[in-house]
Amino acid sequence: MNTNPSAPVTLSVKNIQKSFGDHHVLKGISLDAKEGDVISILGASGSGKSTFLRCLNLLETPDDGSVSLAGEELKMKRRRDGRQQPADRRQVDRIRSQLGMVFQSFNLWSHMTVLDNLIEGPLRVLKRNRAEAVEEAEMLLAKVGMADKRGHYPAHLSGGQQQRVAIARALAMHPKVMLFDEPTSALDPELVGEVLRVMRSLADEGRTMLVVTHEMGFARHVSNRVMFLHEGRVDLDGTSQEVFGEQKSERFRQFVSSHQ
Ligand code: ADP
Ligand code: MG
Repeated sequence: MNTNPSAPVTLSVKNIQKSFGDHHVLKGISLDAKEGDVISILGASGSGKSTFLRCLNLLETPDDGSVSLAGEELKMKRRRDGRQQPADRRQVDRIRSQLGMVFQSFNLWSHMTVLDNLIEGPLRVLKRNRAEAVEEAEMLLAKVGMADKRGHYPAHLSGGQQQRVAIARALAMHPKVMLFDEPTSALDPELVGEVLRVMRSLADEGRTMLVVTHEMGFARHVSNRVMFLHEGRVDLDGTSQEVFGEQKSERFRQFVSSHQ
C-alpha cells in the first residue's frame, strides 16, 4: 500500500528522549507520519516501543524532543533538572483526545454496556447530543461487526470482540491518528484474524495509524512503512518493501525469523 508522497504530515515527532532513572530508554526517535500512513513499529521486547507510543499521547512526558499533531506543536517548559514538561494541560488534553489509543489489554469500562462505552467520550468530551452519539456509535459497531452486541457487557464478550469494541470506541472520538500497542498480543490465536481484518479496513479507508505489532503479515502487507527499534534507537526506517525486501540488517533478519 502506498500513500501520496505529497500528503500533509499529520504527526511529527523529533528527537524523543526518555529515561527512567538512569535507564536511557529512548535515545532520539524521530518520525513523520503523513496523512494515510500506516506505520508498523517493530522491535524486540524492551526496545522502547510502548514507551514511544506513550510519549506521543503524553501518558509519559518525553525528557526532550518535540511532538506536533496537525501542525500544532506541544508546548513544553524546562524543569530545573533540564527535562521538559508540558506547559499547558488543556493543550495536552486536546492533543490526547485527537490520538485514538488501543492497548493490548482492551481496557473497556466493565460496568458499561458496549454502546455506553462508545458514547461516553462523545457525550462528555465532544459534547455531542445523545441521539447523535448513539447513531454514530451504531454505525461504528456495524463497521467492526459488533452491532448485535450493543447491549452486552464486556465480560460477556470474547477478547477479539472486546478489542473490536475498543477500536470502535477510539474511532468515536474522531482521532487524527490511531495508535495501537500490540492489539492482538493478548488474544487467543483464533481471534487474531478478526481484529487484524478490522485494522486492515481502517488502513484501506486511509486512516493514519501507528501500530506496534509482532504480526509480520500486517507489517509487510498492510502497513506502508516500517520502523524497527533496537535499544531505544531507530535501527531501520523505510517503506515496507525496502525494510522487508532488502532485509538490510542481520538483527532485523533474526527478528523476523523469530516472529514467523
Ligand atoms: P517494549 O514495548 O518495546 O517492550 P517498553 O517501552 O515497554 O518496551 O520498555 C522499554 C524499557 O523501559 C524496558 O526496559 C522497561 O523495563 C523500561 N520501562 C518502561 N516503562 C517504565 C517505567 N514506567 N518505569 C521504569 N522503567 C520503565
Ligand atoms: Mg510494549
